[in-house]
Amino acid sequence: MIRPLIDISRIEKEYPQKKHVVSVLNGIDLSLAKGQFLAIMGASGSGKSTLLNIIGCLDRPTSGTYYFDGVDILKSSDAQLSRIRSGSLGFVFQNFNLISSLTVSENVELPFLYRDDDPKEIQGRVQEAIDQVGLNHRKDHNPLELSGGEMQRVSIARALAVAPKLILADEPTGNLDTRTSLEIMRIFEELNRQGRTIILVTHDHQVAAFAQECRTLCDGRFTI
Ligand code: ADP
Ligand code: MG
Repeated sequence: MIRPLIDISRIEKEYPQKKHVVSVLNGIDLSLAKGQFLAIMGASGSGKSTLLNIIGCLDRPTSGTYYFDGVDILKSSDAQLSRIRSGSLGFVFQNFNLISSLTVSENVELPFLYRDDDPKEIQGRVQEAIDQVGLNHRKDHNPLELSGGEMQRVSIARALAVAPKLILADEPTGNLDTRTSLEIMRIFEELNRQGRTIILVTHDHQVAAFAQECRTLCDGRFTI
């Protein structure tokens, strides 16, 4: 059997408060093969970002098991998790998280700061990612000169440039109008068609329809 890229069993996440414990995830099972495109839906506060942050090794679950590409994530040290994040994962956020004092190209180059790629190769990969999202004419611009849709395309290029095993997107169209959201989703669709594995969180059915598979979170569990 081919090993799944993501193999999650019985994940739980609790946040201890002063007087009681808030239970956000109550037993999540998820298996994802390479090349899949999964949308995770759910109402606001249902735990979508919490789950995505666990999958992205930005946060740790309270209990359960999580294997990423065969690596036991719960047994990994913080240093190992940070290597997995910079080596294998690409992140896209609702608020783009671009650095306004850097150009578009320099923003796309940022993830390479945490890696030791051949410097000659980096420029090629940055250019390729910028071309892929159709922003070559904007590469020397400042992010503040761009529209919301263009800013999100920069952040997709930044996620893409390092050739990650998995792209994680948390409400990537949350700050965009409908037409621009669809443009952004067509980019994700094309990336998946080229073989990229994607997990995208959204509360928008029209956005989720671009994925191959959709799961819905409710009360800390997948309903489907
Ligand atoms: P979603 O992304 O689906 O809107 P979140 O994963 O952000 O939901 O949050 C799910 C629940 O967990 C919310 O009730 C939120 O208040 C709670 N929560 C998230 N992060 C923390 C935290 N660091 N400490 C305490 N509670 C948290
Ligand atoms: Mg969220």
